Amino acid sequence: MKRPAAALLCAVLLAGCAGGAGERPGAVDGRAQDPPRAGQGGTGPVPALPRAEGDTRRLPPVVDHVPTREPVVFLTYDDGAERDPRFVGLVRERRLPVSMFLTDSVVGPGYGHFARLRAVGASIQNHTLDHSALRGLPYAGQRAEICGQQHKLRSRFGISPRLFRPPYGTYDRTTLRAAADCGITAVVLWRASLNTDGELTYPRGEPGLRPGDIVSVPAGETMSPSLTERTVRLLREIKRKGLRVGRLEDHLEDHR
Ligand SMILES: [Zn+2]
Repeated sequence: MKRPAAALLCAVLLAGCAGGAGERPGAVDGRAQDPPRAGQGGTGPVPALPRAEGDTRRLPPVVDHVPTREPVVFLTYDDGAERDPRFVGLVRERRLPVSMFLTDSVVGPGYGHFARLRAVGASIQNHTLDHSALRGLPYAGQRAEICGQQHKLRSRFGISPRLFRPPYGTYDRTTLRAAADCGITAVVLWRASLNTDGELTYPRGEPGLRPGDIVSVPAGETMSPSLTERTVRLLREIKRKGLRVGRLEDHLEDHR
């Protein structure tokens, strides 16, 4: 892809996706959604695992926090718009088990960067083919977005991701069914998000970083401060709270 086209695409995606206050759960096109209710989809954790009618399989849990006694938090990065080579160095040097949720139309020809990240310890997860807001879409469309990206990631990396983050944090019961049918075992939201000033915000629930929190680090609207700089600041804050970075999929496996 030519650079101007890529830049434009990122600008469009950032405007509705990961800019400013982050990829806010519960916001679609800037409008807040109703509070989520268990089993009815929405944008928050589903306390009781819903079952589809006549479907005996369990649907994947929706998580923004993992119950744990370990002093860990989880760092998640969305879309794949920022490809700062220094970030690869940071992940390698600090041995950060971060999770990268990738959207094919954003990454475009940039998968090589994420292969390098994966080689130094990052995990690659699913964030749809085209970054569509899934809530309300028919099953076939949702499945195509999720399974399509599973296929892309399998052909690029030889992996079958188990974690899925719905764009904008918006989903419904159909999303959970489609995700399960694509091999997803957990739908991952976030409890804290890093804003462009490098400060943590808490879209819902009590402020303050706690063990088990899933933190979203959105792409910046500008390259300054860079993803690396914002992550370094965040790591300082994490350390100050006596916490460290854990590997999300390992902890989700432990608590199923
Ligand atoms: Zn996104």
